[in-house]
Amino acid sequence: MDDRVLTRLRCPVCAEPLTAATAGTTRALRCPRGHSFDTARQGYVNLLAGRSPHTGDSAEMVAARAGFLAAGHYDTIAAALADTAVRVAPAEPYPLVVEPGAGTGHYLAAVLAALPGAAGLAL
Ligand SMILES: [Zn+2]
Repeated sequence: MDDRVLTRLRCPVCAEPLTAATAGTTRALRCPRGHSFDTARQGYVNLLAGRSPHTGDSAEMVAARAGFLAAGHYDTIAAALADTAVRVAPAEPYPLVVEPGAGTGHYLAAVLAALPGAAGLAL
């Protein structure tokens, strides 16, 4: 995980900073108190603590959304976001771009493509 993102994350249980840890093939984020959050095969980390009232989208729902976005139906929105980011983002230090409710990360990817050197955090 990019250190510019990692340094901004906190353990959802105790609020201590998180660090990346690897044990064999398992990658995780851990806090000094021992709370651990595995990195999924796809590269994301679920920082929800306890049971979530929402189970999230199914794989089928995500695939349908990704297919719809890949067809270009909302490319105008992605381009507008990228253009705006280029106009308002500082050149240095490179910004951390956060997309709450990021879904597939489609729009965040468009912004990051327009801002080489920026880091992204999809929530
Ligand atoms: Zn903790």
